[in-house]
Amino acid sequence: MSPPILPYGRQTIEDDDIAAVAEALRADFLTTGPTVDAFEHAFAEKVGAAHAVACANGTAALHLAMLALKVQPGEAVIVPSITFLATANCARYVGGEVVFADVDPMSGLMTPDTLGEALTRVGDRRLRAVLPVHLRGDACDLPGLEALAATAGAVMVEDAPHALGTAMTFGNVAERVGDARHSAMATFSFHPVKTIATGEGGMVTTNDPALAERLRLMRSHGMMRPQGADPWWYEMAEPGFNYRLPDLLCALGLSQLAKLDRFAARRRALAAAYGQALAPLGPVVSVAAQPPWSDPVLHLMCVLIDFEAAGVTRRQVVDGLKARGVGSQVHYIPVHRQPYYRQRYGDLDLPGAQAWYDRCLSLPLYPGMSDDDVVRVVGALRAVVGV
Ligand SMILES: *Cc1c(COP(=O)(O)O)cnc(C)c1O
Repeated sequence: MSPPILPYGRQTIEDDDIAAVAEALRADFLTTGPTVDAFEHAFAEKVGAAHAVACANGTAALHLAMLALKVQPGEAVIVPSITFLATANCARYVGGEVVFADVDPMSGLMTPDTLGEALTRVGDRRLRAVLPVHLRGDACDLPGLEALAATAGAVMVEDAPHALGTAMTFGNVAERVGDARHSAMATFSFHPVKTIATGEGGMVTTNDPALAERLRLMRSHGMMRPQGADPWWYEMAEPGFNYRLPDLLCALGLSQLAKLDRFAARRRALAAAYGQALAPLGPVVSVAAQPPWSDPVLHLMCVLIDFEAAGVTRRQVVDGLKARGVGSQVHYIPVHRQPYYRQRYGDLDLPGAQAWYDRCLSLPLYPGMSDDDVVRVVGALRAVVGV
C-alpha cells in the first residue's frame, strides 16, 4: 500500500473546535449573532488593529476593500503577479484596471523597486490602490512601499492571508501583520490551508472607523437602518452584497484564533527544522529568501529548485515526491500570464515573477506535521532531485 500523502497544507481541527460549533448550532443565531462581534473583536486585538470586519472568504474581503475605497471603473490598482488570482480579480470586480508589478525572484515579494517600475506603467489612469501580498508569510517592506504609494496618491491594501501571526520590525518599531499601520486595510482568509480555518471565511482589518462602517454596509446588501427610524425601516444608497460570515463559523474562528500562538509556534519550529534539513541540498535547492525585517509565521514552505542544474523537470519532482507520499504545490503561476489578463493587457515581461515561477515549489507545512515528517519530506526531495 502506498503511504498516505502529506498535503502541502491542511487545517488543525480539535475536539473543542467541534464543541464550539455544536454549541453555536444550538444557539438562537446561525448567521448574524453575537459570535460575529466576539470573533471580530478578538481578531482585531490579536493583530493590533482598531477594527476587524468578518466576511464570507478572503476574496470577499478583497472585494469589500475595493468597494470601501470606492475604486471606480478605469482606475488603476497595482498587484504583484505572484499571488492568488483573487488579488487581481478584486480590482476587476469594481471595474478597476490591474497593473501587474514584478517581484523579487528570491523572496517572491513585491519590493519598492518593482513597485517603482510598475508605477511607470500606470499611464494616464488614476492610481487608487497598491496591494502588497505577504507571500508565504514573510512581510513586505511596508514603509518602503507606503512611501512610494503615497507619492503616487494611492493607498495600500495588504493581502495578508499568508501572514496571520507574522511579526515585523521597521526602524526598531515592532509591528504585526494586520495592524494596518502602513495601509488602509489588510485582508485575511480562513480557507482550510491558511493559518486558522473556518472552512470559508475572511476578515478585513483597518484603523479607520469610516472604512470599517463602509465594509459592514457593503457586506450586507448596502442596507442602512437610520437612527430613530421606524423599527421596520431600512434604506439602501448603493447595492451591496451578502458577504456575511455566519455566527456558526465565527464560533469556529474564535476557537481557532485562541490557538493561533500554538499553531504559530509549531509552524516556526517546522520551518526551522526545514531550514536545517534543507541546508545540505544547496545550492541546487534553496529556501525562499526571508527579508531582514520579517519574523514570519510561514503559511507556505517554498523552496527554489534549480531544475536545470539538477537535470530534472518540475513535473518529475512533483510526481517523484507524490510517489514517496509527499504532496507539493506551485505558488503561483504568474497572474499576468492568465489568458484573461493576457487578452486584456497583452503579453508582459516580468522577469522576477518568471524566475520565481520557474523554480518555486511548496513543500508540506502545517501544525499537525511531526518532526519526522520534515525529515521524510527532505529525504524524498533529496532522492528525487538527486542532490
Ligand atoms: C487564500 C487567498 C486568497 C483568497 O482567499 P479565499 O478565502 O480562498 O477566498 C486571496 N489572496 C491570497 C494571497 C490567498 O492566499
